[in-house]
Amino acid sequence: MANPYRILSLGVLGTFALALGSAFTLRRPKEEGPPPPPPLLATAYAAPVESVHRAELRKGETLSQLMERMRLDGEAASALLASLSASADPRSLRPGMAVEWRTSVKTGGLRRMRMKLDADRTLDVDGRHGALQAEVKEVAVRPDTAVLAGTVRRSLYQAMLDGKGDVPRAERERMVDLLADRIFAYKIDFSRDLKPGDSYSIVAERMVRPDGTARTSRILAVRFDVGEKSHQAFFFSADGEEDYYDADGESMKRAFLRAPLEFRRISSVFSTGRFHPILRRMRAHHGVDYAAASGTPVRAVGDGVIRKASWGGGYGNVVEVSHRGGYSSRYAHLRGYAQGIRPGARVTAGTVIGYVGSTGMSTGPHLHYEFHMAGRPVNPASIKHLTGAPVPGGARSRFRALVRSRLALMERAGQPTLASRTTTARTGE
Ligand SMILES: [Zn+2]
Repeated sequence: MANPYRILSLGVLGTFALALGSAFTLRRPKEEGPPPPPPLLATAYAAPVESVHRAELRKGETLSQLMERMRLDGEAASALLASLSASADPRSLRPGMAVEWRTSVKTGGLRRMRMKLDADRTLDVDGRHGALQAEVKEVAVRPDTAVLAGTVRRSLYQAMLDGKGDVPRAERERMVDLLADRIFAYKIDFSRDLKPGDSYSIVAERMVRPDGTARTSRILAVRFDVGEKSHQAFFFSADGEEDYYDADGESMKRAFLRAPLEFRRISSVFSTGRFHPILRRMRAHHGVDYAAASGTPVRAVGDGVIRKASWGGGYGNVVEVSHRGGYSSRYAHLRGYAQGIRPGARVTAGTVIGYVGSTGMSTGPHLHYEFHMAGRPVNPASIKHLTGAPVPGGARSRFRALVRSRLALMERAGQPTLASRTTTARTGE
């Protein structure tokens, strides 16, 4: 999905970043199969039945022109074009696309053809039994496990993008989204909590193509050491439910999201201190400011009821949400409100309530966010209400075994990182 904010944030997100310290792949041990059987004499001395040809689609070349180059006779060419248009969109064919075909030595007729449509599909045509038969085949993939480990130097995106290891760029970006807005959405605000020296390891399962590139990957386990705290999450499925759990099998879900904006939409963090840029005087600041593009969706951090959605003086357009247990949240300087957001409306964690703007006392587009308990500012990270279901009782021992093996994998892979951290700490003394 094309996302203008992502492109934007990649440009501006320079403030924090992870440098990917190491990335390595644990391949399954190669199975030493039996040696290939010696070629049969009969085959070795028989005259070849087929001759093999290879070509690549040239820039600006049409399929018909390619077939002319293949010297296919008119009948075969039109049959081939017909089967091609039935099984693949001709517009999706790109220059450089490889074609291999085999013709009969005796008649010159087309016997077989293979065309690589994209990284994951080939078109196989068989003409050995009369009429041409075309079939689109998925490239076979095999799963393997990769461990990505590193230390925060500048930013999360930077780390994931710069890192070595065979994980495509789009997959790395998806991993950041997954970490920030799904797995740790209730525990870590990556835009504010990460500091240089924090470290991570990720165990990812990848589906690898025969050429070694990965098609997709899935985070199986992750450990994030943020400051003194080690956050862990493990992917586990039981009773048809797939989810991430902490090492004790508890849900990663809490009552409140750590940030009211999706991580990839936060362009930087303000370090305003307490000097108000418009009032030009020191002012108690009981909130968090997130810089983000005007129009960025703002989400409620927890389930609740809208208490206010109107003009609030210096706050500009402001939304206030009452949550259970005496908690409330406030979102200020909004450009506007989301549809249906009015006093009395119910929202759940993640509901879009409005859009980032610069209304009220504000010098540029940003979100001013406050979280309160009985009218006093509190840190939402300190609230422990669990809202998701834990690992079911019957699956506990299977879960514990999985946690042990994943941790061992990360421990082995994480050693270079730990070693370098120790060195840094010693030289810093
Ligand atoms: Zn503020």
